Amino acid sequence: MKILKFGIQVLVFGVLAGFTSSNLPAPAYLTKDKPQYAIAIHGGAGVILRENLSPNLEKAYRSILDSALTVGEQILAKGGASMDAVERVIRIMEDCPLFNAGKGAVFSHEGYNELDASVMDGSNLMAGAVAGVRNVKNPITLARKVMTNSSHVMLSGKGATEFAREQGLEIVDSTYFFTERRWQDLQKAIQKSKENKFGTVGCVALDKAGNLAAGTSTGGMTNKRWNRIGDTPIIGAGTYASNKSCAVSGTGHGEFFIRYTVAREIAALMEYKSMTVQQAAQEVIINRLKPAGGEGGIIAVDKDGNIAMVFNSPGMYRACADSRGRHEVSIFGDN
Ligand code: ASP
Repeated sequence: MKILKFGIQVLVFGVLAGFTSSNLPAPAYLTKDKPQYAIAIHGGAGVILRENLSPNLEKAYRSILDSALTVGEQILAKGGASMDAVERVIRIMEDCPLFNAGKGAVFSHEGYNELDASVMDGSNLMAGAVAGVRNVKNPITLARKVMTNSSHVMLSGKGATEFAREQGLEIVDSTYFFTERRWQDLQKAIQKSKENKFGTVGCVALDKAGNLAAGTSTGGMTNKRWNRIGDTPIIGAGTYASNKSCAVSGTGHGEFFIRYTVAREIAALMEYKSMTVQQAAQEVIINRLKPAGGEGGIIAVDKDGNIAMVFNSPGMYRACADSRGRHEVSIFGDN
């Protein structure tokens, strides 16, 4: 009897094993092997609905997300550092007028483009940030220079630009940041007399050496006043990375991200409560931020290469990839 039962078990197991391996192969990224590297990027969260995005614009967003992701992926595949991938990918998005960062930055109430950015290196907890810069073409590179070539974490305004000049970074006339679309957004926001329309770009990555890095860059909120600074350059709010847990980059209503210390909170929930990166991100973005009225989302990658892309808004421009062949670009809640 026992032998018969054992035989049946073996048979059932064999059939199941055969069935799963030959008929339903699981995608490689769902297997248990850890990826050697992983990367996620975002281009801002908000009211991004299919009906509001023309097919051409949707195509343009998907294509730039895809090419920026691919560049980051290639750096990591060749054994490059996560921080290099983060900076390179964000520079591509800063140079693209579609995103609210660098070239496509929104206008402040006074008609300026005031840019914020930050980076963090998870291997040593070093960080660099800049706030309110008006003439630096690629604020993400400046944030990295603050981290590596100064003894500070955050520089702002004119002083930050002076430092950029000393570091040999590209300084541009403020007209470089003019785009008709953002100018019209400002006129509309002024009429409604409110601050709105966020956006932002970010990248998080795990490299083959096991190091995590995060970076975020933004023009902030349309119609912002009084040199308002959001969460993007605040380490622990819009950006955080630690090899102990994860790398996070956020996008959304910055005041909430600052008050809820979103990026660090996700890392802390992993470190102290043993949550997975997905659970921690959902806890903060869905269970805490949303009921408080804070719209936005995050991308995160943990030390084992697991990726989370969680948002409480209708959409978030996002993409991710890993060494096991995962490569996805999404915009809306349902893709
Ligand atoms: N978080 C940015 C800010 O508040 C904006 C955004 O991500 O859309 O400045």
